[in-house]
Amino acid sequence: MNIEQLNGIGPKNKNLLNKLNINTIEDLLTYYPYKYLDIKIVNINDANSNDTIYVKGTIVTIPKVYYIRRNFNYLSFVCDINGNMVNVKIFNRAFLKNNLTVGRVIVLVGKYDKLKNSFMASDIKFNIVDDKIEAKYHLINGLKENTLAKWINTALESKLNIEDLVPNDLNEKYGFIDKNMALKYIHEPKSFDEIKKAKLKLIYEELFSYTFKINALKVKNKKALGIKRNIDEEKVTDFLNTLSFKLTEDQLTTIKDILEDMATPHRMNRLVLGDVGSGKTIVAVVAILTNFYAGFQSTFMAPTEILAKQHYEAIKNYFEQENIKVALLTGHMTAKEKQSIYVDIASGNIDLVIGTHALINDKVIFKNLGLVVIDEQHLFGVKQRNALQEKGTIVPDVLYLSATPIPRSYALCLYGDLDLSMIKTKPKMRKEIITKVRSEKEIKDVLFKMLEEIKAGHQIFVVSPLIDEQEEGNLNSVLKLKEKLDMAFQNKVNIAIIHGKMKQKEKDAIMQEFLEGKIKILISTTVIEVGIDIPNATMMVIFNAERFGLAALHQLRGRVGRNDLQSYCYLISNFDNMRLKVMEESTDGFYISEKDFEQRGQGDLFGIKQSGDMIFKIANIRTDSRILLQASGDSLKFLTSQEYSKYPYYKQILTEIDYLD
Ligand code: ADP
Ligand code: MG
Repeated sequence: MNIEQLNGIGPKNKNLLNKLNINTIEDLLTYYPYKYLDIKIVNINDANSNDTIYVKGTIVTIPKVYYIRRNFNYLSFVCDINGNMVNVKIFNRAFLKNNLTVGRVIVLVGKYDKLKNSFMASDIKFNIVDDKIEAKYHLINGLKENTLAKWINTALESKLNIEDLVPNDLNEKYGFIDKNMALKYIHEPKSFDEIKKAKLKLIYEELFSYTFKINALKVKNKKALGIKRNIDEEKVTDFLNTLSFKLTEDQLTTIKDILEDMATPHRMNRLVLGDVGSGKTIVAVVAILTNFYAGFQSTFMAPTEILAKQHYEAIKNYFEQENIKVALLTGHMTAKEKQSIYVDIASGNIDLVIGTHALINDKVIFKNLGLVVIDEQHLFGVKQRNALQEKGTIVPDVLYLSATPIPRSYALCLYGDLDLSMIKTKPKMRKEIITKVRSEKEIKDVLFKMLEEIKAGHQIFVVSPLIDEQEEGNLNSVLKLKEKLDMAFQNKVNIAIIHGKMKQKEKDAIMQEFLEGKIKILISTTVIEVGIDIPNATMMVIFNAERFGLAALHQLRGRVGRNDLQSYCYLISNFDNMRLKVMEESTDGFYISEKDFEQRGQGDLFGIKQSGDMIFKIANIRTDSRILLQASGDSLKFLTSQEYSKYPYYKQILTEIDYLD
């Protein structure tokens, strides 16, 4: 129901509420308080001087207003509080004067000074006379808490019968209160027990309906028919024998998962989650190989050009003994070069094309695409994934690779519609990266270590959060660091900078020189965050490390230690930062992400912008992860048993995602 149908809400108020995304009465009722104040009215004779207290009093004298200067005034009056005639003072409430009539009973919030018998009030409440729990809401300019609470009250009183999204039998099973009662309790609780009951119900409801949709997507994807291939296992074994290393346990399991997907008629929709350096590429390579021998083309998408090139080189290497034609397609190839690749893709002359997102371009038409591999896909949300799947008439299998280790409950929310393979173990021969947190005062140690590494013929990454000084205060910018380091090393070391505002061509040229070992120290912003492989780089120095999330630091650190050499990571920060200690403790991405999750909450984990489908009004996937798992299991049962057919709301969801034929 439109919000304007509520008493007291005209066009002006409607606009105000729209700013808070409140368009309907349902929206208003699900605009939940963010906290509650426990208001207990005390006897002023029992109060301690420094406590903020609530007292009830009767106004005795007409308030006087004192204007001290512009925007600064105070009111003064006498109040009878528990039999004491107390002098009350409150700042900047001159506008209340006319409401403070003699004889009126009010509640004062503030501190009582017994010796002076005066009360310094911070707030005056007119509508409370007894103990009360007060709901606090996030507000915007022009909207008062009282007004909002009044509208919500009107909505609650009009008994709208808001649909309960928890199925009846589950309500019974868990003993949940009904929806209308939950809404009443959440906004106007009489006790903290009521709040608890309301929250339990509403959180479960929210997670149930969310996971219902995710589960439906998953089941739908499972039903989607893809390519059923005959897997040439001998070819796979032969290929694995050409490798110079033995695959880890988790790599083998993941490959098994993938080959199973590819052999069955259902469409593969699988995410491989593995820490940096866990060896995800080879897993994808096996999938590509299998797809090739089954007679289909593959494509491999990377988030940046540099990365695409690197994958191209690496994969061509892996396929040295194979007769697989591999092409690279990047944005700054000439139109002519691109055109000729388009032609070869269309004619089937190319078996595997590696490139950036440009690959989803309409001009790229495959002869028979059977497999899409998407690297570092953590930037996509559920919605984008679905859009990708709707592309084209043939239905290629999709394999996502992500180096973002995330806690299970988060994965369930974000990737619940995908099948999941985890690579938790890392190839053995790697040495642990030694990580140290240092303050800028200790920079000499760091410089010394840098020199040592350079003398040993190794290379160094230096990272700063900013490009130039002007951007923000006193932080070490890329430019300033270059100056400092040039000075420290007396211009004898080749140092270069790279940042997001440079042209792609410049960036690529510098990366190329770094790759060739001509540049010894590369100072950059976080543009190097994703996947680039410089085996000879053994040291990572991150300035103003406190500015980064743990997960981001972990990703950055993953740029070194990509071979048998001992590598180092120095985190420079002047803040006594317990958070950074986690990095010294561990190089396990799953552990670090769990810590990051604990410290920063769900908000901007790994810089994933909350896509529309991940915003919860009351649930918090970190603290409510147990409810999440429960709700997800329940909603799956609800879906597969077709219980949903009795619930228009859920039928509607299924229609929206084309679940029902
Ligand atoms: P990521 O998971 O970060 O994408 P890569 O696939 O790029 O990691 O692998 C990192 C490096 O480890 C590559 O040089 C690769 O050849 C190597 N590698 C992969 N698997 C193994 C293994 N089982 N044993 C040893 N080295 C491996
Ligand atoms: Mg990779």
